[in-house]
Amino acid sequence: MLRSMFTRQRPGFPTVPAPGRDPALQNPPAPQYLYVESRAGKEALTLKILDSVPWIRVCEITDHRRLDAETVPFRGYDPGIKSQVLVLAHNPGPFVRPFRPLLDPGKNPDFFISHANGCPFDCHYCFLQGYFPHGAPVVFVNQDVIFEELERHLEAQTKLGPATYHAGELSDALALEPWSGFARRAIGIFRKNPLARLELRTKCAGIEDLLPDDPPPNVVCSWTLTPRDAWQRFEQDTPDPVQRLRTARACQEKGYSVGIRLDPALLYPGWEEGYRELIAAIFECLLPRSIESIVLGGFRFLPGLAVRIRERFPECSLLLAEFVPCPDGKHRYFRPLRVELYRKIIREIRKHDGGIPVQICMESEQVIQDVGEGLIKGTAPSSF
Ligand code: SF4
Repeated sequence: MLRSMFTRQRPGFPTVPAPGRDPALQNPPAPQYLYVESRAGKEALTLKILDSVPWIRVCEITDHRRLDAETVPFRGYDPGIKSQVLVLAHNPGPFVRPFRPLLDPGKNPDFFISHANGCPFDCHYCFLQGYFPHGAPVVFVNQDVIFEELERHLEAQTKLGPATYHAGELSDALALEPWSGFARRAIGIFRKNPLARLELRTKCAGIEDLLPDDPPPNVVCSWTLTPRDAWQRFEQDTPDPVQRLRTARACQEKGYSVGIRLDPALLYPGWEEGYRELIAAIFECLLPRSIESIVLGGFRFLPGLAVRIRERFPECSLLLAEFVPCPDGKHRYFRPLRVELYRKIIREIRKHDGGIPVQICMESEQVIQDVGEGLIKGTAPSSF
């Protein structure tokens, strides 16, 4: 019954930008297929999305986690699944989860919000490839449940102290915003909870109009960036880094605090020049006083991700560098190489600004010491 309700086809199936997107910015094209879980069919957000794309092909599915068992045109990591499919599903929950492991028990806790799984972009290094059995982006449409749970969580956590909530852990935080409207609603909730901080981490461009004006100070939009040549080698379908920076600047002008995430930081032929140019572009484009922080994290992977990268991108050179297994089971660049990577990137940052907080994530204390506390914390006040 649901299938016939959902099947709305129009010949030609034109590819059009998702609502509110500028196609010139190379954000992902609108999907051509909606896979809709039966139990998600009557949700208000499902009906709204169906109304906004009346030409789209709709397939009813039973369970988004078992896409390989469904009769659908694209499943698993078939080429095209990211660009042609959007899944609308119910998340049975929980929606708010702690990061694990809690690396520093003395630090304020971090949580992530599962409002979506997967991402329409296709970065070779993306850890989600080793995490989900298929590559289709999934929007959880039972949003009233998400937001009720989030409000309860914030109320309880606020009594314990400050905390950070991440919306870009299991998906790009804003790539599905034209469909889900998640961030807009979440920002309204964080406005009422000033002790908690929301980070929206993305690679999107051209999304500034989707975000509300007059943002509260506890919301940070952060952009993940790689040098231009690494973007060309290792990312598919993501917007040009310069377009991302222009969008970040537009968000600063709207009043948003902006974070820069060089994660993964990559070693590849020409990386030093690549990061020099990228850092220069960051400081040329952005207002340093509204850069909340810069976070670096060297490329790392679990063995399952390496298998997926080799299967999906056999020509990719990401895995040719020298890696060592680390105590958390992940492989990272040989330690002296990543210390050199961090030191050189931070030196470039310090040439432009002595005071912006720089952090290194997912690394051991030893590596951070080797990089140098002074270099990380900065030695001079911000130039603004
Ligand atoms: S943008 Fe982020 S979430 Fe999306 S594919 Fe790239 S690394 Fe993964």
